[in-house]
Amino acid sequence: MFDLGALVRENIRRLTPYSSARNEFSGTADIYLDANENAFGSPIGGELNRYPDPLQSALKSRVADLAGVRTSQIFVGNGSDEAIDLAIRIFCTPGRDRIMICPPTYGMYSVAANINDAPIDSVPLTRYFQLDVPAILRALTPETKIIFLCTPNNPTGNSLRRDDVIAVIEAFDGIVVVDEAYIHFSTQSSFGSLVDTYPNLVVLQTFSKAWGIAGARVGTAFADEAVIELFNRVKPPYNVGTLAQEAAIAALDQRALIADWIDQTREQRDVLSAAFAKLDFVVRVFPSDANFLLVKMRDAVAVYRSLIDSGIVVRDRSGVILCDGCLRITVGTPDENRKLLEVLGGLNF
Ligand SMILES: *Cc1c(COP(=O)(O)O)cnc(C)c1O
Repeated sequence: MFDLGALVRENIRRLTPYSSARNEFSGTADIYLDANENAFGSPIGGELNRYPDPLQSALKSRVADLAGVRTSQIFVGNGSDEAIDLAIRIFCTPGRDRIMICPPTYGMYSVAANINDAPIDSVPLTRYFQLDVPAILRALTPETKIIFLCTPNNPTGNSLRRDDVIAVIEAFDGIVVVDEAYIHFSTQSSFGSLVDTYPNLVVLQTFSKAWGIAGARVGTAFADEAVIELFNRVKPPYNVGTLAQEAAIAALDQRALIADWIDQTREQRDVLSAAFAKLDFVVRVFPSDANFLLVKMRDAVAVYRSLIDSGIVVRDRSGVILCDGCLRITVGTPDENRKLLEVLGGLNF
């Protein structure tokens, strides 16, 4: 049985959250003398002398329409990395409660766990980069509070089988975080709408990849509103700045452009994938549902260094479990990809 109250850290359950000026009075007034802001104004315009909306209601109502969830089921963070950190802080008592990851996967789950002193259990993906569900269930302990799954997965690029993800969500009484940073490039559907069905599901999305505003630092988490209430309680009161909230809303106004860029990214992914496969030092190009390709090479480190010498930087993942000999290459613009292929075509390994 899933019991949110029992899962939450004792001190978080009892926490009295900081109550900001904007929390205590959220109506409209003529004169605001409640938050020690600069009453003369912002020297750079934009009403930046005022603190941001702590609960980002304008942005959330836009995200809610798009994602098919209610605003009460949305947390907005300083990147989705903030949601990863908060999830661990909410549920894992340091030095005791554990998280589970399925490597190779995104490195921030381990880093955030280490910062919060949460021990990590690793259950590697299969050689097809899919979940080993029986092994995951065998490795659970009474202290396991969160399982992090990533689909499409970074750095492998593939989507996890939907049935496997559901099986884990249904079998585990703790929190399952499904990280969908690359969902917009995938043909798979989001798990976002399932937060109505599964009270233990947290779905992460981000404005950093397809939405094109990594520099603004905006990420979202979708979950049952009882879980979102915990995120709101623990987050810094003004965790997302006014400029970042405005940037995300402005990006959402550019849906047609983003859709076009996603189409081009997918096309270019196919172009790169086919071209990589023809290179004789390439051992394997893995299928991708994301905006990057994982490519196994005869001598990945040598290729990596040669690319750097030509002014092109990719990600060396050759030291990562199940990724030996692999580089992770982001899909660029058609022009960037042509230049990449030109350099690769001139290499001999
Ligand atoms: C890039 C990425 C993120 C995004 O993090 P932000 O903090 O939102 O920029 C999250 N998860 C995965 C798997 C990623 O690759």
